Amino acid sequence: MELPFAESFKIKMVEKLKRSTQREREEWIKNAKYNLFNIKSEQVFIDLLTDSGTGAMSDKQWSELMLGDESYAGASSYYKMKSAIKSIFNFNYFLPTHQGRAAENVLFSVLIKEGNIVPGNSHFDTTKGHIEFRKATAVDCTIDEAFNTTLIHPFKGNVDLGKLEKVLTSNPIEKIPVIIVTITCNSSGGQPVSMQNLKEVYTLAQKFKVPVFFDSARFAENAYFIKLREKGYENKSIKEIVREMFSYADGMTMSSKKDAIVNMGGFIGFKNEQLFKDASVFNIMFEGFITYGGMSGRDMNALAQGLDESTEFDYLETRIKQVEYLGNKLIEYNIPIQQPIGGHAIFIDAKRFLPNLKKEDYIAQTLAVEIYIEGGVRGVEIGTVMADRDPVTHENRYPDLELVRLAIPRRVYTNNHMNYVAATIINVFNRRESITTGLNITKEAPILRHFTAEFERK
Ligand SMILES: *Cc1c(COP(=O)(O)O)cnc(C)c1O
Repeated sequence: MELPFAESFKIKMVEKLKRSTQREREEWIKNAKYNLFNIKSEQVFIDLLTDSGTGAMSDKQWSELMLGDESYAGASSYYKMKSAIKSIFNFNYFLPTHQGRAAENVLFSVLIKEGNIVPGNSHFDTTKGHIEFRKATAVDCTIDEAFNTTLIHPFKGNVDLGKLEKVLTSNPIEKIPVIIVTITCNSSGGQPVSMQNLKEVYTLAQKFKVPVFFDSARFAENAYFIKLREKGYENKSIKEIVREMFSYADGMTMSSKKDAIVNMGGFIGFKNEQLFKDASVFNIMFEGFITYGGMSGRDMNALAQGLDESTEFDYLETRIKQVEYLGNKLIEYNIPIQQPIGGHAIFIDAKRFLPNLKKEDYIAQTLAVEIYIEGGVRGVEIGTVMADRDPVTHENRYPDLELVRLAIPRRVYTNNHMNYVAATIINVFNRRESITTGLNITKEAPILRHFTAEFERK
């Protein structure tokens, strides 16, 4: 008999999950004004709201916490993180920050000025936020294939070089301070970028003397997809692939809450000493002195250890196979999901799931609420609610895709939990014809309304 796949870890500590009934959940979600951000975590059975900061640290990471050096300046924990960043990414300079958006804030304070243009592949929302906050513009140069949820393409996160070149040639080059490549591309569904594409983007950028930074939250998952899908990389280790990937960048911003498997933390990596020095000024102002920048010594230790673990093939195989396991179960039952399955999450196409609803019904929000009521599974809406209103007309912006994202925390749930999630969704799918009304918004904030909006049933 061929031996089956099994997880590359065993469990040393457990956390109790609370079960609840559908009737209780009906009541709780009503009291929460049909917003899943208002639900207490204990009212959730399986929490797939995000994979950010929700991972389980290893025994070695927990041990590293005890070895943390909390000195204000020159802590050994800083040097541990420095040496991990050097060995994994080959960057000589780095600044710790409290999370990914803080890294963006510090870096962009140096690089981005009013009126600038920042091309990239579907910038993440905090990245875009920090660009637009500086009255600059993020230009999306992702390949067109990324926007068709049913089309199979191995690297849907790729940058369209034609689109990028057009941005570079049709604007004064001094207005383009940086190109940002997000790996994997979160906004297009955790889709990877190929090595060839990273190399071609860098070559083009060098021709125009524009620096390239990687928004690297899920860099290790990206490397796994390169190993599996790109010719010439099948026999390379993940660490070798990561080294090559980052040789095509001038620097990186990192949300360590993802592929460094810690609950809080981030950093900026640099090739260039001058840029590092310029950014240090803002790091000291916004985050803290350059040898801790918003992080405790113990957390820097755990982060350094996490970077080493997340760039091991066995860890990544277990991680991504679990996401695929859930996705394949849903595909088996004809649930419309974005394909190919990405690295960290499953995206349900809510318009195809609930065909009886109109766009004014907040289709994906309605589906996320139904999934919660059915099984106590919490996902998140990525649709009209998250898209906010047009700042000028104050009309709702209706994006092409109405998605419910189910993000899988790292090393937290078992495949039995995935079976439970799949059954929950299949049950909602089987009663989809009876879901004929959606939600109204009764209260909302002017921006980022999805966190606090209140709804009622129509
Ligand atoms: C999460 C994330 C960020 C922001 O990081 P935080 O740690 O949440 O501040 C930036 N870019 C990408 C691609 C992310 O996934």
